[in-house]
Amino acid sequence: MNKDKPNRSRDRELGMHRAISRRDFLNGIAVGAGSILASAWLPSLTLAAETANFAQNAPGYNPAALTGMRGSHPGAFEVAHAMRDGKFWEAAGKPVDTHETYDLIVVGAGMSGLAAAYFYRKQAGPSARILILDNHDDFGGHAKRNEFRPGGRLLLANGGTVAIESPFPYSVEARGLLAELGIDPPALEKKSMDRDVYRGLGSGYFFDKETFGVDRLVPGVPGGSYGSPVAPGRTAWSEFLAKTPLSAEGQRDIARLQEEKVDYMPGVPQAEKKARLARVSYKDFLLNVAKVHPDVIRFYQTRTHGLYGVGIDAVPALDCWAINFPGFQGLNLDRVPSKGLTFTAKGEVTPQERYHFHFPDGNASIARMLVRSLIPGSIPGSTAEDIVTAKVDYARLESSSSPVRMRLSSTAVRVRHVGDEASAKEVEVTYGRESKAYTVRGKGAVLACWNMVIPYLCEELPARQKEALRYGVKVPLVYTVVAVKNWTSFHKLGIRGASCPGMYHSSVNLDQPVNIGDYKCPHSPEESILVRMLRTPCQPGLSAREQQRAGHYELLSTSFETFERNIRDQLGRVLGEGGFDPARDIEAITVNRWPHGYTYEYNPLWDPDWSEGQRPCDIARQRHGRITIANSDAAAAAYTDQAIDQGYRAVQELLSLS
Ligand SMILES: Cc1cc2nc3c(=O)[nH]c(=O)nc-3n(C[C@H](O)[C@H](O)[C@H](O)COP(=O)(O)OP(=O)(O)OC[C@H]3O[C@@H](n4cnc5c(N)ncnc54)[C@H](O)[C@@H]3O)c2cc1C
Repeated sequence: MNKDKPNRSRDRELGMHRAISRRDFLNGIAVGAGSILASAWLPSLTLAAETANFAQNAPGYNPAALTGMRGSHPGAFEVAHAMRDGKFWEAAGKPVDTHETYDLIVVGAGMSGLAAAYFYRKQAGPSARILILDNHDDFGGHAKRNEFRPGGRLLLANGGTVAIESPFPYSVEARGLLAELGIDPPALEKKSMDRDVYRGLGSGYFFDKETFGVDRLVPGVPGGSYGSPVAPGRTAWSEFLAKTPLSAEGQRDIARLQEEKVDYMPGVPQAEKKARLARVSYKDFLLNVAKVHPDVIRFYQTRTHGLYGVGIDAVPALDCWAINFPGFQGLNLDRVPSKGLTFTAKGEVTPQERYHFHFPDGNASIARMLVRSLIPGSIPGSTAEDIVTAKVDYARLESSSSPVRMRLSSTAVRVRHVGDEASAKEVEVTYGRESKAYTVRGKGAVLACWNMVIPYLCEELPARQKEALRYGVKVPLVYTVVAVKNWTSFHKLGIRGASCPGMYHSSVNLDQPVNIGDYKCPHSPEESILVRMLRTPCQPGLSAREQQRAGHYELLSTSFETFERNIRDQLGRVLGEGGFDPARDIEAITVNRWPHGYTYEYNPLWDPDWSEGQRPCDIARQRHGRITIANSDAAAAAYTDQAIDQGYRAVQELLSLS
């Protein structure tokens, strides 16, 4: 079946004709006006635009409440792409000089940029004048918030960053920042994460007819969705597998991988085993070392999607050992950090305090707390509990009375020293906003945007640094959130979620249940709830970097309607036997599209083994005069704490100059 091809009668069944909530207007005001104007940027660069009434200053502006295509939303990327393609300046005309001067200009209002502003103000003092620019219509970078109101009740989801956790313990600075904001993750985890709501519900596997020959949901995956070892008395793998449409050989080999302790590399010393596992993909390990039937690959192919953004063809077997995938039990490998593990996997085998705390809107709550601290009056309240339901007054973000200001829908297009880099006292930043270009000046600039953008922004950087900045290819992925009228279908089927390895989204799950402050998660299956779906547009067969490039293109060229049709089709098929009817039960859809998602992490399958200090990210993040570089790409590690640490370092580099 062609999943993208419209079909009228099927579309009616899926409810494609039903208007679902896609709120582009609130209180009669175009809350996305910035985006709409910005997307008209190229044809209308020379048109005069209103400068005073920017969208973020309009009453009722609340981009988190928008549904439809979010994440990298229309209007967020066109200016940057015009800059990349060398078309920006052709049409831009002369920028308007705002005559504004700041102590610090931060490009990027993600976790790294907000943390940089926070650390700078803490050290330079409360009167430090800081301007933060971001190309999106909301702050937070990947740490974005989605709001839904099915039946008038507020339901929140993370549009990107899920949780406070990290492969490694947070640094003194990152943990200190959380503590100063009032966030104690282990205490909040204990108090707020509700472990009872889905009690009795397990994980399922959905086998689709296009991949497995038949549509069939098989609930009760032994050991949960990751298939970890089965506790005594629980369903055995053979019992579960017998209900699947997999071939007898496939079933036999999956049961062997999951339950037997086989040394597939007998006689090979442990260090050599690890070295070999680091150089083969998990897929190749399964096929060529564990010698499984090819059916096994389809079963596991997407299991790495959530963590790596690619399938098992592109993830080293050694990493899969570290994250407890099956097949390694008999290899007798010591669970200690070893050479050849990626950053993420090394953390998994490093002993440390473990916690996982998820705000209902993910780490958007941290971003909101940072903004509340930086711009007094922008968000009411003072605790990690009250931030969750607090409303942002976006008009306060660039209030002239605040020393810290934030400009949304503002894409930096040029950053350069005023005069010679070695002796300059100022940096000039030009940004495009709502069809015009503007310049501002600062004593220094932190580029807390993505590494790959920086060579276009900052032409004066040395060639070697530009090359290093271009090295990583960010990992594309999509977090889709669907508000549904109830979750009785999940309840009837006995699942809280399902892996769907052959489908458009590779998983479907009920949202994580959290009660915090005034926010209460749904408890009864009759209540509205949010369903989360993951899509990674990868293309097995290509290198990881090529898969990621192809994924960027795919995401930016796929319409919301194509997503919607696939979402309705998938939910109808996975949950249909539980009584789910997409036409009746879907209330709203938000597709959080991240063509430039996770930071590129180095991986022994695809990257050289650089010597200390010579990784591209080490070269890329060098200070250049009064311009320093933050963001998680600067650490080659896709985690919140890494973004904060890089913000801290970039600020220290600047402050050491004055
Ligand atoms: C879907 C997803 C889920 C994740 N889940 C987790 C998790 O559970 N836990 C965890 O620790 N980490 C997680 N991460 C990683 C974590 O979110 C990031 O490492 C971190 O938030 C990155 O922060 P940052 O400020 O470096 O970058 P970003 O958040 O990307 O912020 C950079 C900002 O700069 C903007 N920008 C770029 N160019 C320009 C320009 N020219 N002008 C103006 N602005 C510009 C960008 O658009 C963006 O808004 C996740 C990431 C993604 C994508």
